[in-house]
Amino acid sequence: MIFEYDDLKKEIIDSSSKFAQEKLKPLRSLYDEKEDFPKELLKDFSEMGFFGISIPEKYGGLNGGITGLCLAIEEMSKIDAGLSLPVATSALGAIPIMLYADEKQRDKWLSKVACGEKLAAFALSEPEAGSDATAQKTTAVKNGDYYILNGVKHFCSSGDISDLYVVFASTNPSRGARGISAFVVEKGTEGFKIGKKEKKLGIKANATNELYFENCKVPSENILFSEGFGLFVLQETFDYSRPGVAAQAIGIAEGALAETIPYLKSRKQFGQSVSSFQAIGHILAELASKTEAAKALVYSLSSAMDKEFLSAFEAACKNGTVLREELKKISKKRWTKHSAMAKYLASETAFEVAQKCVNLCGGIGYMRDFPVEKFMRDAKVTEIYEGTNHIQKNEIAAQLIKEY
Ligand SMILES: Cc1cc2nc3c(=O)[nH]c(=O)nc-3n(C[C@H](O)[C@H](O)[C@H](O)COP(=O)(O)OP(=O)(O)OC[C@H]3O[C@@H](n4cnc5c(N)ncnc54)[C@H](O)[C@@H]3O)c2cc1C
Repeated sequence: MIFEYDDLKKEIIDSSSKFAQEKLKPLRSLYDEKEDFPKELLKDFSEMGFFGISIPEKYGGLNGGITGLCLAIEEMSKIDAGLSLPVATSALGAIPIMLYADEKQRDKWLSKVACGEKLAAFALSEPEAGSDATAQKTTAVKNGDYYILNGVKHFCSSGDISDLYVVFASTNPSRGARGISAFVVEKGTEGFKIGKKEKKLGIKANATNELYFENCKVPSENILFSEGFGLFVLQETFDYSRPGVAAQAIGIAEGALAETIPYLKSRKQFGQSVSSFQAIGHILAELASKTEAAKALVYSLSSAMDKEFLSAFEAACKNGTVLREELKKISKKRWTKHSAMAKYLASETAFEVAQKCVNLCGGIGYMRDFPVEKFMRDAKVTEIYEGTNHIQKNEIAAQLIKEY
């Protein structure tokens, strides 16, 4: 794809690509096997400025928008989507803060997230609230200057290494979806514990944890926007974060092809390179074309988003207002449909590409010494998290039906 990027974006592409080659590649197989994360990498991510890519300069970030974030995630996922996941998950936790925090809250948290002093995370899913995120069982009851949270979250990515958790809880169960609110809960808060780490198929270097809230005392000032706005917070967060999952998926697809094609060129059967068989070449052509199409969708979407996102953020910083309010002044439209399309298309492409690359490589493709099977395992989660692809299609269809 030929996209004309500014100097900042070019720098993000170059630095994250080099970082992935030099720092992530040597650790890839080891930490996938160990199902562990080398915490030293957090310092490296911080020094590279990766945690602040989409955060404005006022808070020490790079102001690279959603596009800058997607580019870094894509480049690093070409090598390892698991090791690089904290960059994506901290952005996922930072997006609701960027969108819905007031100036005081932004001042308190964003500069810490941007420099990597505190990692953000997103805690929505519960054992009984998955695709139906409105079925929240976690409750938050106001008590003086605090909310008292009780409940269990599960499947929280980077759960063990994060510091600021955007937690959704019902402040008014009788109002159902309209009774949900979003809070920032800091690690170390009384009554908040990190729980069980899941054993997974892919992205094994990243911990996925349960979180427990037992009479957890969260200061009232930590609520995002106000009571009952949680549903908007979560929906709009996904509008802006799903392109990141799509970029991760594209990186995985590109990474799988980058390992597969040189192998097919070097592998000889029947006296010739396997890549010279037309049947093989056609499959490669199909996979590369689909990847390119998904990439075009993701970056045309993120570029369109950034036009609004960056100018609205500038206004929010200047006026001391909430970003979401400034975005609404620019446009009433939401990105839900295209964001869901991007994630759906890119994630299905990634799994198809990685899975077919395993087949194309033959026996070696199945072996853990060769990275292609890892790309296939890592690709699967992009079809599931931040809403399964059934849910993406529901959202796309609902919008289409409204439009026509
Ligand atoms: C590795 C990993 C990391 C994750 N990280 C996070 C995180 O950081 N924070 C967080 O909050 N969550 C996280 N999640 C949770 C993730 O977002 C959910 O797993 C996902 O939204 C699906 O919910 P569920 O697992 O409860 O599936 P369910 O909702 O139980 O779905 C089961 C099946 O039913 C289908 N289905 C459900 N409803 C419908 C419908 N209306 N129409 C059609 N089909 C439907 C689903 O598509 C799926 O196939 C993570 C998950 C994984 C696997």
